[in-house]
Amino acid sequence: MTKGITGNASSLEISKQEELIRQLWLNTDCVCFDVDSTVCVEEAIDELAKFQQVGPLVEAITRNAMGGNMSFRKALQTRLNLIQPTQQRLEQFLINHPSQLTDGIIELINLLHERHIPVYLITGGFHSIVDPVAKCLNIPLTNVFANRLLFNNDGSYAGFDENEMTSDSGGKGLVIEYLKKKYNYKRLIMIGDGATDMEADADGFIGFGGNIIREKVRDNAPWFINSFYQLIDEFQNNTTINSISQTNSHHQHIPTRRFSTEIEAN
Ligand SMILES: [Mg+2]
Repeated sequence: MTKGITGNASSLEISKQEELIRQLWLNTDCVCFDVDSTVCVEEAIDELAKFQQVGPLVEAITRNAMGGNMSFRKALQTRLNLIQPTQQRLEQFLINHPSQLTDGIIELINLLHERHIPVYLITGGFHSIVDPVAKCLNIPLTNVFANRLLFNNDGSYAGFDENEMTSDSGGKGLVIEYLKKKYNYKRLIMIGDGATDMEADADGFIGFGGNIIREKVRDNAPWFINSFYQLIDEFQNNTTINSISQTNSHHQHIPTRRFSTEIEAN
């Protein structure tokens, strides 16, 4: 019975996918967030590289790694060897460059916590930078999955912990698999800007383009949002799927965004 249906099959398929993920969002039992360019405005490793005066070099490696010839671990190792984040410089960096939270994230996470929905941060970034963000958002540090920088006794850089699940390609998927197995989550949602977030095999994925728009994610995410207020509104207007408007939010603020045809750095 196709009478009355307008539009082609693919757009119908897309709207069906979006409807399913919106329903999953309303009934989620666990929400995982990427950090760089999602919970936080910037990419921390890029900012750290600039702080260490090796911004362009690190950027060149990131671009090379994105060609697909280098594992995440190798790319991380190569960039950190250039950055040489000593304990002292890292402390200065954290003082001079506190992470900037994306508009709406505090309200969104408060709302999830009010509803007793567990929230996790899953990132290829570092505990030393992400843990203060988690504290700010009242997320327990046990819910943070990130990489751990290692230091020698004199504070000089000594590598990173390769036992962390997030320290190699496919790491975010490993964390999600681990969480689902451990806590038996059935409707786990991953929210992030990057292809690695989309490919992490969550029960549902929401693409986030509030800070940077990744072409691959925008084109393939079942639901792509530009503001966390859309997710808040979805909860608050929780009536029927069809009655939800994405554009009527008086508080919705769309900042200037970066645009990228490339996948993310971490
Ligand atoms: Mg990201």
